[in-house]
Amino acid sequence: MTATRVLVLNSGSSSVKYQLLDMRDSSRLAVGLVERIGEETSRLVHTPLAGGGDERRERSGPIADHDAALKAVADELAHDGLGLDSPELAAIGHRVVHGGLRFSAPTVITDEVLAEVERLVPVAPLHNPANITGIRTAQALRPDLPQVAVFDTAFHTTMPEAAARYAIDVETADAHRIRRYGFHGTSHSYVSRATARLLGKDPSEVNVIVLHLGNGASASAVAGGRCVETSMGLTPLEGLVMGTRSGDIDPAVTFHLKRVAGMSTDEIDALLNKKSGLVGLCGDNDMREIRRRVEEGDERARLAFDIYVHRLKKYIGAYYAVLGRVDALAFTAGVGENAAPVREAAIAGLEGLGLAVDAGLNAARSGEARLISPAGARVAVAVVPTDEELEIARQTFELVK
Ligand code: ADP
Repeated sequence: MTATRVLVLNSGSSSVKYQLLDMRDSSRLAVGLVERIGEETSRLVHTPLAGGGDERRERSGPIADHDAALKAVADELAHDGLGLDSPELAAIGHRVVHGGLRFSAPTVITDEVLAEVERLVPVAPLHNPANITGIRTAQALRPDLPQVAVFDTAFHTTMPEAAARYAIDVETADAHRIRRYGFHGTSHSYVSRATARLLGKDPSEVNVIVLHLGNGASASAVAGGRCVETSMGLTPLEGLVMGTRSGDIDPAVTFHLKRVAGMSTDEIDALLNKKSGLVGLCGDNDMREIRRRVEEGDERARLAFDIYVHRLKKYIGAYYAVLGRVDALAFTAGVGENAAPVREAAIAGLEGLGLAVDAGLNAARSGEARLISPAGARVAVAVVPTDEELEIARQTFELVK
């Protein structure tokens, strides 16, 4: 029997999301999530999807750490006959947020690779430590199994220096590895290729602008399959307006908050990462709720929506200029896939660039990749559901099979 299953793990600071896939047909065998790890109110939600499994199961009660979380996941999988000891499991694929400049492709994890991911903690203090914990825990559970790191930054390592460097003192930048790395790379890679497929083209033939609009949000410009520009930078704070992050601001705002408002570095960090963006502007970060308030005539929600869309439009224009020729623009992730009013407003007035949205197509709901531009439009506008877990599984399996 050949091993064709891949377990995908996305370990956050207090959560683990997982999916078990069978790469013969890319089908999902089980999906789940452990949240609030380390608290009294931890919760595991597990859904078996194949092989005569039961319905969705939920477990509440304290799960002390990632080790306990992964053991609980292993128990749930074993209950469905999908245990981690199965000879059908080919590898575990880990989402790793920051791979720096070194990792431009998925990588089999060795001690040396793990040490390098550890060296990157200062540039990804919120994410890499949790990813490392997830990897160590999985290694302890199945020491014999290949573990693969798939990096959020990898797709962006093709950015030219002109796009990747900040215009600051070069020695200081290099000494502290300060440059634009970009994130959400697995999604930008998957969606740009899926968009090419939707057009019946090879990725090498098309230039695509991808707008990944989830709770975190980022844009990328992809020329012939290679990323040439993206909106997130040293950290995922730069760029678009997000659920709780400010995106672009004048860096002098931080000195001002320090000198004039007397805020500490940590307070400013929390303000810009957690209390800004849509939530800072109107108190809500869920686009559904914001749209509901806009429909009711709520002024703050309207302003938040307008600022969000204005920033998007600026990036569309900028990336159009970076690419020179644009074949398609793709919306993806929670907001991009579901919020027709955001898509409509972001594209409104861009007919001069060959960009337009057909109202009927835009309003139609579907879980499939689809075009929403009018027939014969110069630039295709598409909605392309992202699937980061499938992409991580695919890249992992390619490497180990
Ligand atoms: P992340 O993975 O970054 O947490 P997602 O890509 O799942 O985020 O996106 C989550 C966001 O998508 C929610 O915060 C919400 O704003 C938005 N969203 C989800 N469903 C809808 C919908 N039907 N209409 C509008 N926005 C939606």
